[in-house]
Amino acid sequence: MSTLEPAPGCVLCPRLVDFRVENQDKFPDFHNAPVPSFGPISAPILIVGLAPGLKGANRTGRPFTGDWAGDLLYPTLVKFGLALGTYGQSPDDGLELTQCRITNAVRCVPPQNKVVADEVAACRPFLSAEIQAMGNLHTIVSLGLVSHNAVLKTLGHKQSQHKFAHGARHDLGDGLTLADSYHCSRYNTNTGRLTEQMFEDVFRVLE
Ligand code: URA
Repeated sequence: MSTLEPAPGCVLCPRLVDFRVENQDKFPDFHNAPVPSFGPISAPILIVGLAPGLKGANRTGRPFTGDWAGDLLYPTLVKFGLALGTYGQSPDDGLELTQCRITNAVRCVPPQNKVVADEVAACRPFLSAEIQAMGNLHTIVSLGLVSHNAVLKTLGHKQSQHKFAHGARHDLGDGLTLADSYHCSRYNTNTGRLTEQMFEDVFRVLE
Protein backbone atom coordinates (compact mmCIF):
# COMPACT_ATOMS: atom_id res chain seq x y z
CA MET A 1 0.00 0.00 0.00
CA SER A 2 1.40 3.40 -0.88
CA THR A 3 1.43 6.26 1.58
CA LEU A 4 -1.80 8.18 2.28
CA GLU A 5 -0.28 11.63 2.01
CA PRO A 6 2.25 13.19 -0.39
CA ALA A 7 5.42 14.48 1.28
CA PRO A 8 5.26 18.22 2.13
CA GLY A 9 7.85 18.85 -0.59
CA CYS A 10 6.26 16.47 -3.12
CA VAL A 11 7.78 16.97 -6.60
CA LEU A 12 5.48 14.74 -8.68
CA CYS A 13 3.86 17.66 -10.56
CA PRO A 14 6.36 20.21 -11.93
CA ARG A 15 3.68 22.84 -12.66
CA LEU A 16 2.28 22.59 -9.12
CA VAL A 17 5.77 22.72 -7.61
CA ASP A 18 6.48 25.95 -9.54
CA PHE A 19 3.19 27.41 -8.32
CA ARG A 20 3.95 26.34 -4.73
CA VAL A 21 7.36 28.03 -4.83
CA GLU A 22 5.75 31.19 -6.26
CA ASN A 23 3.16 31.16 -3.46
CA GLN A 24 5.73 30.48 -0.75
CA ASP A 25 7.38 33.70 -1.86
CA LYS A 26 4.15 35.70 -2.23
CA PHE A 27 2.32 34.33 0.82
CA PRO A 28 4.94 33.15 3.30
CA ASP A 29 2.35 32.66 6.06
CA PHE A 30 0.26 30.21 4.01
CA HIS A 31 0.41 26.40 4.36
CA ASN A 32 1.71 26.16 0.73
CA ALA A 33 2.11 22.37 0.62
CA PRO A 34 -0.02 19.32 -0.19
CA VAL A 35 -3.13 19.54 1.98
CA PRO A 36 -3.65 16.38 4.06
CA SER A 37 -7.02 14.66 4.28
CA PHE A 38 -9.23 15.51 7.24
CA GLY A 39 -11.39 13.19 9.33
CA PRO A 40 -11.20 9.68 10.75
CA ILE A 41 -9.86 6.87 8.58
CA SER A 42 -12.57 4.68 10.17
CA ALA A 43 -15.36 6.86 8.68
CA PRO A 44 -17.95 5.20 6.41
CA ILE A 45 -18.07 8.16 4.00
CA LEU A 46 -15.26 9.74 1.94
CA ILE A 47 -15.85 13.14 0.33
CA VAL A 48 -13.53 13.84 -2.60
CA GLY A 49 -13.07 17.44 -3.74
CA LEU A 50 -11.04 18.79 -6.63
CA ALA A 51 -7.97 20.56 -5.24
CA PRO A 52 -7.17 23.12 -2.53
CA GLY A 53 -8.22 26.71 -3.15
CA LEU A 54 -5.35 29.20 -3.18
CA LYS A 55 -6.62 31.27 -0.26
CA GLY A 56 -8.70 28.50 1.30
CA ALA A 57 -7.13 25.11 1.98
CA ASN A 58 -3.74 26.14 0.59
CA ARG A 59 -3.70 28.95 3.16
CA THR A 60 -5.12 27.11 6.17
CA GLY A 61 -3.85 23.57 5.53
CA ARG A 62 -7.28 21.90 5.99
CA PRO A 63 -9.45 20.84 3.03
CA PHE A 64 -12.28 23.24 2.17
CA THR A 65 -11.31 25.56 5.02
CA GLY A 66 -11.21 29.32 4.55
CA ASP A 67 -13.10 29.82 1.31
CA TRP A 68 -16.67 29.73 0.04
CA ALA A 69 -16.72 26.01 -0.73
CA GLY A 70 -16.23 25.24 2.97
CA ASP A 71 -18.93 27.71 4.01
CA LEU A 72 -21.41 25.48 2.19
CA LEU A 73 -19.82 22.07 2.81
CA TYR A 74 -19.15 22.09 6.54
CA PRO A 75 -22.52 23.39 7.78
CA THR A 76 -24.15 20.77 5.53
CA LEU A 77 -22.07 18.02 7.15
CA VAL A 78 -23.07 19.25 10.61
CA LYS A 79 -26.74 19.48 9.58
CA PHE A 80 -26.80 15.85 8.43
CA GLY A 81 -24.92 14.44 11.40
CA LEU A 82 -21.59 13.78 9.70
CA ALA A 83 -19.71 16.37 11.76
CA LEU A 84 -19.91 17.93 15.21
CA GLY A 85 -19.29 21.54 16.20
CA THR A 86 -19.40 24.82 14.33
CA TYR A 87 -17.37 25.60 11.24
CA GLY A 88 -15.23 28.65 11.94
CA GLN A 89 -13.23 28.91 8.67
CA SER A 90 -10.06 27.90 10.46
CA PRO A 91 -8.37 24.58 11.32
CA ASP A 92 -8.55 25.51 15.03
CA ASP A 93 -12.35 25.88 15.03
CA GLY A 94 -12.76 22.56 16.87
CA LEU A 95 -15.00 21.12 14.18
CA GLU A 96 -14.90 17.32 14.30
CA LEU A 97 -15.74 15.04 11.41
CA THR A 98 -17.41 11.99 12.91
CA GLN A 99 -18.90 10.03 9.99
CA CYS A 100 -16.83 11.26 7.07
CA ARG A 101 -13.35 12.03 5.86
CA ILE A 102 -12.50 14.70 3.27
CA THR A 103 -9.77 14.58 0.67
CA ASN A 104 -9.00 16.07 -2.75
CA ALA A 105 -8.34 14.43 -6.12
CA VAL A 106 -5.25 16.66 -6.33
CA ARG A 107 -3.60 17.61 -3.03
CA CYS A 108 -1.80 20.77 -4.18
CA VAL A 109 -3.31 24.08 -5.25
CA PRO A 110 -3.32 24.48 -9.05
CA PRO A 111 -3.00 27.78 -10.94
CA GLN A 112 -6.42 29.27 -11.81
CA ASN A 113 -8.10 26.48 -9.85
CA LYS A 114 -7.64 24.13 -12.83
CA VAL A 115 -5.88 20.81 -12.64
CA VAL A 116 -4.54 18.95 -15.67
CA ALA A 117 -4.92 15.22 -16.35
CA ASP A 118 -1.30 14.39 -15.49
CA GLU A 119 -1.73 15.94 -12.06
CA VAL A 120 -4.84 13.91 -11.30
CA ALA A 121 -2.94 10.81 -12.44
CA ALA A 122 0.12 11.65 -10.35
CA CYS A 123 -2.01 12.13 -7.24
CA ARG A 124 -4.14 9.00 -7.82
CA PRO A 125 -1.95 6.64 -5.74
CA PHE A 126 -2.75 8.75 -2.68
CA LEU A 127 -6.49 8.54 -3.36
CA SER A 128 -6.18 4.84 -3.94
CA ALA A 129 -4.27 4.34 -0.67
CA GLU A 130 -6.89 6.40 1.13
CA ILE A 131 -9.75 4.27 -0.18
CA GLN A 132 -7.90 1.03 0.63
CA ALA A 133 -7.22 2.22 4.16
CA MET A 134 -10.84 3.09 4.93
CA GLY A 135 -12.04 -0.25 6.25
CA ASN A 136 -15.63 0.88 6.94
CA LEU A 137 -16.11 2.82 3.71
CA HIS A 138 -19.53 2.45 2.06
CA THR A 139 -20.03 5.75 0.21
CA ILE A 140 -17.74 8.07 -1.72
CA VAL A 141 -19.19 11.50 -2.46
CA SER A 142 -17.56 13.06 -5.52
CA LEU A 143 -17.74 16.82 -5.73
CA GLY A 144 -17.59 17.46 -9.47
CA LEU A 145 -16.62 15.56 -12.60
CA VAL A 146 -12.86 15.53 -12.04
CA SER A 147 -13.33 13.87 -8.67
CA HIS A 148 -15.92 11.44 -10.09
CA ASN A 149 -13.54 10.35 -12.86
CA ALA A 150 -10.59 10.10 -10.48
CA VAL A 151 -12.57 7.78 -8.18
CA LEU A 152 -13.75 5.58 -11.07
CA LYS A 153 -10.25 5.29 -12.49
CA THR A 154 -8.79 4.54 -9.06
CA LEU A 155 -11.24 1.69 -8.59
CA GLY A 156 -10.92 0.38 -12.15
CA HIS A 157 -14.44 1.31 -13.32
CA LYS A 158 -15.38 2.62 -16.77
CA GLN A 159 -16.62 6.20 -17.11
CA SER A 160 -18.94 5.06 -19.92
CA GLN A 161 -20.81 2.87 -17.42
CA HIS A 162 -21.04 5.52 -14.73
CA LYS A 163 -21.93 8.93 -16.15
CA PHE A 164 -21.55 11.89 -13.84
CA ALA A 165 -24.82 13.59 -12.88
CA HIS A 166 -25.72 15.67 -9.88
CA GLY A 167 -27.62 13.44 -7.42
CA ALA A 168 -26.68 10.22 -9.22
CA ARG A 169 -25.69 7.20 -7.18
CA HIS A 170 -23.52 4.49 -8.75
CA ASP A 171 -23.21 0.96 -7.40
CA LEU A 172 -19.50 0.13 -7.56
CA GLY A 173 -19.89 -3.35 -6.09
CA ASP A 174 -18.49 -4.71 -2.82
CA GLY A 175 -20.99 -2.58 -0.90
CA LEU A 176 -19.54 0.67 -2.21
CA THR A 177 -21.66 3.51 -3.66
CA LEU A 178 -20.40 6.56 -5.53
CA ALA A 179 -22.68 9.58 -4.98
CA ASP A 180 -22.25 12.56 -7.32
CA SER A 181 -22.69 16.24 -6.58
CA TYR A 182 -21.82 19.36 -8.45
CA HIS A 183 -18.84 20.96 -6.75
CA CYS A 184 -19.86 23.40 -4.00
CA SER A 185 -17.75 26.20 -5.52
CA ARG A 186 -18.74 29.84 -5.44
CA TYR A 187 -18.97 29.76 -9.23
CA ASN A 188 -21.53 26.93 -9.19
CA THR A 189 -23.65 28.54 -6.48
CA ASN A 190 -23.43 32.04 -8.00
CA THR A 191 -24.55 30.76 -11.39
CA GLY A 192 -27.41 28.75 -9.85
CA ARG A 193 -26.00 25.46 -11.14
CA LEU A 194 -25.95 24.28 -7.54
CA THR A 195 -28.39 25.49 -4.90
CA GLU A 196 -28.11 24.84 -1.17
CA GLN A 197 -31.18 22.62 -1.47
CA MET A 198 -29.60 20.55 -4.25
CA PHE A 199 -26.43 20.14 -2.24
CA GLU A 200 -28.32 19.11 0.88
CA ASP A 201 -30.32 16.56 -1.11
CA VAL A 202 -27.09 14.65 -1.85
CA PHE A 203 -26.28 14.34 1.85
CA ARG A 204 -29.84 13.75 3.00
CA VAL A 205 -29.92 10.32 1.37
CA LEU A 206 -26.55 9.05 2.68
CA GLU A 207 -27.01 6.30 5.24
N1 URA B 1 -11.05 23.41 -1.18
C1 URA B 1 -10.66 22.12 -1.24
O1 URA B 1 -9.94 21.62 -0.37
N2 URA B 1 -11.08 21.39 -2.28
C2 URA B 1 -11.87 21.87 -3.23
O2 URA B 1 -12.22 21.11 -4.13
C3 URA B 1 -12.26 23.22 -3.15
C4 URA B 1 -11.84 23.96 -2.11
